[in-house]
Amino acid sequence: MSKIQAVRGMNDILPEEIGYWHYFEDIVKQLLASYGYSEIRLPIIEKSQLFHRGVGSGTDIVEKETYDFTDRSDEALTLRPEGTAGCVRAMIEHGLLRNQLQKLWYLGPMFRYERPQKGRYRQFYQFGVEVYGSDHISQDAELLSLTWRLWQKLKLNEYVTLQINNLGSNEDRQAYIDALVEYLTPLKDQLDADSQRRLTKNPLRILDTKDENTKTLLINAPKMEDFINTSSQSQFLALYHYLTSIGIPVEVNPYLVRGLDYYSDTVFEWVTDKLGAQGTICAGGRYDKLVEGLNGPPTPAVGFAMGIERIILLLKTLDQAPIKSNRPDIYIISDTYSVFESMQYIEGIRQRFPQLVIEQNTTLGSFKSQFKKADKSGADLAIVIAENELSTQSCIVKFLRKEKEQICLTQDKLYGFLRDYFSTKNKNAELSIL
Ligand code: ATP
Ligand code: MG
Repeated sequence: MSKIQAVRGMNDILPEEIGYWHYFEDIVKQLLASYGYSEIRLPIIEKSQLFHRGVGSGTDIVEKETYDFTDRSDEALTLRPEGTAGCVRAMIEHGLLRNQLQKLWYLGPMFRYERPQKGRYRQFYQFGVEVYGSDHISQDAELLSLTWRLWQKLKLNEYVTLQINNLGSNEDRQAYIDALVEYLTPLKDQLDADSQRRLTKNPLRILDTKDENTKTLLINAPKMEDFINTSSQSQFLALYHYLTSIGIPVEVNPYLVRGLDYYSDTVFEWVTDKLGAQGTICAGGRYDKLVEGLNGPPTPAVGFAMGIERIILLLKTLDQAPIKSNRPDIYIISDTYSVFESMQYIEGIRQRFPQLVIEQNTTLGSFKSQFKKADKSGADLAIVIAENELSTQSCIVKFLRKEKEQICLTQDKLYGFLRDYFSTKNKNAELSIL
């Protein structure tokens, strides 16, 4: 029988890599708390209808990327391809949108049936932020400065730029789409196949084409900014000035549109040139009509999502993240006679020094092989508690990283020794009796 492998495009995150994830997650949690945002955890499966109405049935995601299935009672369900629709559903369901500003973040896996390649997977993780209840551009500005601060904390700020665009109100956008379709329809035969399909399904996405010929045809197309109402234009200008004033490298990209139907006014992407084709590490914008569209109270909203795998690829490429290793401080060696007593002994150490990483060898092979493993583990000290030591209530401490004679200590002396040893190693090994 052949070995069962993981589903294509769905990755294991192995222990050797997890340090990057913890590094990212710790910084994110601390940063979002400092801006007064709360975490929300949402189901991974939602009713299919939510994404049809929330993301939009003409979008790439709903048209060809969702994992849809029916459960045992024939309910049509979908593995979430993004987090916004579920977040809005939860806000409406729990009545959390009346006269209040909600500032939320989430982190978790999303699922899209795409062609797997570097930076593009079928299960991938997003960290996302959503804010409900403010229609003012200062909220967009807060989100972008928060992201900028995150890039600074991750030391990625030199490698990313911000692209922004203004889609105007829903009415402006619709008027522009009509003009764009009117301009492109007579040229339909000259468009690439994707753009031809989009001309009826999702015309705005044509602006985002990678096809050089279609790009040339777009040069003389109607310009979006000519369709945007003056209030939206002046808010966008205020945003632009704010971003430049705090030193964010920002470019206005008039062709920037988002894949999802629900965006209006500000849209943005953070991009890097260090990841090849999958260079967008964060994308978002304003979606003032989505809550209403899902039968909630009219509520302005703005948010973004970032692809964590892409950020980790970037951190690895730049090789500058201070990743903590899981190296033990102490490696415990015992034998079949002494193992349970030694475990009790170790519990005493754990109780007093909860910050120390203590690894116990439970294979109980020969002392020679246990010492080899202790050495390989990177531990500072090996503590041996074998039959001989038990009878004298003592242990042997061996220094694995220093040319120093091993010592024999009684249990009481050991605590004092560990406190001194690890406090000089800056392990904050204060005696803490719980
Ligand atoms: P792309 O143009 O790369 O397909 P998108 O517009 O579909 O991106 P969004 O739906 O805006 O992406 O998702 C936000 C972010 O999530 C993206 O900017 C990217 O960093 C990440 N992302 C999207 N799809 C994937 C995927 N299949 N694998 C890994 N990361 C992804
Ligand atoms: Mg996509």
